[in-house]
Amino acid sequence: MVVGILAFQGDVAEHRSILTQLELSARDVRTLHELAEVTHLIIPGGESTVIGLHMKFTGLDTRITERVREGSLFVLGTCAGLILLARLGLLHATVERNAYGSQIDSFDAAINVRGIDAQMYAAFIRAPKISHVDGSVEILAECDGIPVVVREGNILASTCHPELRGESLLHEMFLGLR
Ligand code: GLN
Repeated sequence: MVVGILAFQGDVAEHRSILTQLELSARDVRTLHELAEVTHLIIPGGESTVIGLHMKFTGLDTRITERVREGSLFVLGTCAGLILLARLGLLHATVERNAYGSQIDSFDAAINVRGIDAQMYAAFIRAPKISHVDGSVEILAECDGIPVVVREGNILASTCHPELRGESLLHEMFLGLR
């Protein structure tokens, strides 16, 4: 297992620090060559428009899509990362950006994660709302009846940021440590 973080913009350092808590290291991924060396990729929270443009200019969007489809890449996306996974057609969900309001409407929540009987603490910051998921998407957690953690094949994604609250549960699930 080689873990990479898509490192154009967003909370790259916070994801790295969760991996450090788990005694793992992570590579920065900004090129096709760097992507080729990882088996697990984290797409951080941040601005999906900015990260998406970098993905397009570098060709990483196409290669990530191919590798997820061929089953050689596992991807964790938080917040903007989830938006991008839906936009690439890898996560079959309808997502509405900034649907909880603006920055001042940010909030923290403790969420029950199904299947592993654990609570996850996370921040929702200009978070998207998932309004619809296809049958291929498994809903792992909800907050006020809205899906906030989902899994589809090789993809795990959340509309919130556990990484901003020092919470490692989602990363442990992603890396098969739980
Ligand atoms: N609202 C941001 C976007 O649309 C996502 C916010 C975040 O990642 N915290 O890209």
